[in-house]
Amino acid sequence: MKKIGLLPQILIAFVAAIIAGIVFGSSISVVEPLGTLFLRLIQFIIVPLILSSLVVGVASTGSMKTLGRIGGKTIVYYLVTTLIAVSIGLLAGSLFSPGTGVDISSAGEAPEAKDTGGIVDILLNIIPTNPIESLSSGNILQIIFFALFLGVGITMVGEKADPVYRFFDGLAEIMYKITWVIMKLIPIGIFGLLAPIIGEYGLSVLLPLIKLVTVVAIACIVHAVFTYSIAVKTLGKMSPLKFFKGIAPATLVAFSTQSSSGTLPVTIQSAEDNLGVSKRISSFVLPLGATINMDGTSLYLGVATLFTAQAYGVELSFSQLLLVVLIATLGSIGTAGVPGAGLVMLMLVLTTLNLPLEAIALIAGVDRFMDMFRTATNVTGDATGAVVIDRSETKQDSGTNANKATG
Ligand code: ASP
Repeated sequence: MKKIGLLPQILIAFVAAIIAGIVFGSSISVVEPLGTLFLRLIQFIIVPLILSSLVVGVASTGSMKTLGRIGGKTIVYYLVTTLIAVSIGLLAGSLFSPGTGVDISSAGEAPEAKDTGGIVDILLNIIPTNPIESLSSGNILQIIFFALFLGVGITMVGEKADPVYRFFDGLAEIMYKITWVIMKLIPIGIFGLLAPIIGEYGLSVLLPLIKLVTVVAIACIVHAVFTYSIAVKTLGKMSPLKFFKGIAPATLVAFSTQSSSGTLPVTIQSAEDNLGVSKRISSFVLPLGATINMDGTSLYLGVATLFTAQAYGVELSFSQLLLVVLIATLGSIGTAGVPGAGLVMLMLVLTTLNLPLEAIALIAGVDRFMDMFRTATNVTGDATGAVVIDRSETKQDSGTNANKATG
């Protein structure tokens, strides 16, 4: 018998989960441990994976100049795609006005707005006072900071730091291997994660807010089909079809886990194995992307803010819309790659615009579904960054070599 490939297996699990959820309703929750098993397996590699792959990614750039160049390009690329995403979100929100006619009074108590602290505190908090504590508590931003500096330090020290470099290189290889093993369980994991959600919420919870969820879903798909296709085609010189097919395992895991960070091992593996991105670039660009690049989330923040304004009959001025773009962009950078984090950011946006927080209670009921689409978009967007930066670096390298040859 011919073996079924991983991607078809994942797709079958995906469809089976939706059907099983609808057919068996909440009793399908018996399969939940399968989802938890998979989630825990991918979560347990995240901290060592991010640390080792980023240290190696930074150290293998070879010089501060190259590092600065790759880092700069990565941040600019991610910022631009995020801005496009919020704009698509705002456009879709005004075109389809999902909030018009929604009865907000049916919403329950709104949760308290979280005090996220001032921007200065948020930035200062990225610097760990004790990196070992950051590792043990899994504070991703602090781990990234630590790893970046370790990598920079290794580059500056040179030969004497070689054993440390080789240690992290070996650790990263081990983590990739473990990921490879765990990836075989993706179909089971997806089934275990998705079926209980569909079974519990059913499609009926969706109905009152179906328009909101649909607008977010369609806008995410539009952003992926247009922005990402154009980016990988023109800047990455790759066929969009090849790209979407290659990254599909990560996109579907993101959809099912609603966690960019949790999906990271699969994203790295898919980018390297299926899209041919070099390890040097993927190990640097993808962990950064999983933490700071959230196109789906920023798009969602745009749509959900307009939804709230429409539901309350508040007209937003042009300058307020610009403010939405700004906070949604910054907010999405600050959003953690974990389930539901975007909803917390929505509170921040609504508070800043003085919009009533009660809408959160209503949106929270269907947030899970929007989280699926935005996380899938976030992860796919991270991968486009890896393809684009990888391509531009190959060009740079061949340019430098050509210069060397002629010079
Ligand atoms: N769940 C999203 C992610 O991990 C973040 C969000 O809630 O928007 O990318």
